[in-house]
Parts: sequence; C-alpha cells; structure tokens
Amino acid sequence: MSRIETDLIHAGEPRPRFGGAVVAPIFQSSTFELDGTDADYHDIRYLRLSNSPTHLQLHAKLAAIEGTQAAVATTSGMAAISTALLTVLRSGDHLIAQRCLYGGTHDLVTHDLPALGIETTFVDADDRDAWAAALRPNTRAFYCESLTNPTLELADLPGIAAFARAHGLVSLIDNTFATPINLRPASLGFDLVLHSATKYLNGHSDIVAGAVMGDAARIDAVKRKLDHLGGSIDPHAAFLLLRGLKTLALRVRQHNHSALALAQQLATHPAIALVRYPGLPSHAQHERARTLLAGFGGMLSFELHGGVEAARRFTRRLEFATEAPSLGGPETLVTRPAQSSHAGVSPADRAALGIGDGLVRMSVGLEATEDLLADVTAALAP
Ligand code: PLP
Repeated sequence: MSRIETDLIHAGEPRPRFGGAVVAPIFQSSTFELDGTDADYHDIRYLRLSNSPTHLQLHAKLAAIEGTQAAVATTSGMAAISTALLTVLRSGDHLIAQRCLYGGTHDLVTHDLPALGIETTFVDADDRDAWAAALRPNTRAFYCESLTNPTLELADLPGIAAFARAHGLVSLIDNTFATPINLRPASLGFDLVLHSATKYLNGHSDIVAGAVMGDAARIDAVKRKLDHLGGSIDPHAAFLLLRGLKTLALRVRQHNHSALALAQQLATHPAIALVRYPGLPSHAQHERARTLLAGFGGMLSFELHGGVEAARRFTRRLEFATEAPSLGGPETLVTRPAQSSHAGVSPADRAALGIGDGLVRMSVGLEATEDLLADVTAALAP
C-alpha cells in the first residue's frame, strides 16, 4: 500500500490516460451517450448523478487519502454534512452531537433537523457518562469534529467511535480542521468522514466543495441521497479540487509548522490573555493530541487583553493577514467567530462554548513563518 503523499498524486488517476494526458482533462459535459444497456437510475451518466470521469477520479483519490473504501464529493461542506445526516437519520430519530460544532452545522442540527422530526442532544465529547445518559432507544448516530471550530478541542475520538459501535450508532466526524495528513478518523473506527473541501483539501481559497468518505455501502447510500438532494459538485470545481489535493501534504506540514511557532510566540506575549492550540502544553488535550495527531494543524484561536476593541485594533494592524471568514488557504486569514462562523449561535450559547466576543481565530497561511511572526509582533505592539 502506498503512502498518503503518493496517493495524493496517483490514486484515482485514469489508466490508460485519456489521450496520453498526464493531467486528466475536465469532462465538462452534463450528459453522456447511453450505451444501450438498461442502467439503474442512479447509474445513468448525468452530472447531477456524480458519475462523470472527473467525478470518479476525484472519488477514488478522496477515498484513498482517508483510507476508506469509497467517497463522494459534494458541492460544499454543508452539502456533505446535510446529505450524510439525512442519509443516516429519518423522522423520529435522535442524534448525539458534540457541543461545540461549526456554526453552520450547529444551525442545521438545531433548526432544520427538528423541523424534520429529528432531535439532537449535545454532549461534552470528553464525558463518557454524558454520552451514555444521552442515549435513547431511537438514537441512531453520533456526530463530532476532529478539532472543533473555533475552540480547537480534541475530543476522546477513539472513545466516541467505540461507543458508537457498541450501541449500533453510525459515527460521523468532520475532519476539515485536522485533514487526513494529521489524522485519519476511519483508522480510529469512524463510519463516515466529512470534509469542507473548500478549506485544506483544495487549499487555494477558490472553490466551495465537500466530501464524504466511508465504506462502499454507506457511500452508495449517501450518493443516492445526494442524487435526489442535488448537491453534486461541478466538474470544473472537481478538477480544481483534484489539482489542489496533489500538494495537500506539503501545505499542511507548512501550516502545522507556522501555526505552532505562532502559538508559542502568542502564549508568552503580554498582550495575550489566552491561546488555544493543541500543540501547546497548556492545551487541555495536549497529551491526547501528541498521541492522535501527526501534526497540530494550521488553526489557532486567542484572546487579547482588552477584548473586542483590542481584537479589532490587532486585526486592522496586521499586514499579511486578511480579515475574512473561511480557512485552509495559502493566505493567512483572521476572523472573530462571534461575528462570522458562529454569528448564528446565541450569545449565551457562545459564552457557554467558550467563544468570547473578542476571540480571534487565525487560519495560518503559507507565508514565511518569520514574516508571520514579525507581523503578529508588530500588530500587538502597544
Ligand atoms: N465544517 C467546518 C469545520 C467548517 O469550518 C465549515 C466552513 O467553514 C464547514 C464545515 C462548511 O463548509 P462549506 O462552507 O464548504 O459548506
């Protein structure tokens, strides 16, 4: 079996090559000629059914890098999350979910799923007693994130996967923040691995895309649901994602390196009140992170003494970091989650989750580490 760096380049690439092209062309055709056999509806070759040669190439590469049998790409991370949850859950079912989730997922689970008759209990993802207390006869699934957005908690992931298996629940994990370079959740026993491929997998801040990885039967069910919900990825976005994926390993290692250096610098800076980064010994799950993660990731969050006003001033003074939502691209981005990704979560819920109004989240980019360190130091100066 080849390593992930090799799979990123070679897995899923068509053999023989189309016209000898070293980079497979984009199949930008909405429909394909019937071949005279009676295909099942889901196998008719049509773009919404995610089965062009570009899709098949992408699916094989995505499965290889997460170490799963199969994968399906989607038009956004939220399409991956909503389609996967709607595949696993139906009216009358109950979900257990980690308390601090990406704001869009939190909204989906708290607003849209209840309207469909699906209830959720949020739990502390480190508290095994709380998981057991949340179980109901109609509980079907357990949902978590590999590193939470924006608090960067690393839950007891092997424990969650084992608990789900023991109780017949489907375990789903959003692996956007860690990426398969730092963590491969299927190897811990997770059933479905989800991504906003908008972020690190593509890595260039120029498309919106998503992915679901898992065993062949589960992915077939997700793909059939996607065929009806319509969240299939366009071939041009799929092509760009295939291109971005090839450099994932190199990029993530550089993100890991710079984020750790920045976190260490911030942790000792007098203007900083708090830093959350799993690579710091002060992080509550640092020991677990050292065991589970190959790298601590490119995301960190911190609070300045002086709250929102200090955060605003800091952000304005940064030269190389742009204030914008999203993450995982080559350029460093900063945002205040209370104002962006978690604006939809009530202030009381945000406070309970540890998302202060002044919390700054940084997606550390691929600029020179020294330049980023100097930029942050200058922006924090009195
Ligand atoms: N999951 C996480 C952890 C995210 O940060 C995001 C977006 O920021 C999403 C999912 C949703 O992805 P998308 O914007 O591609 O729909």
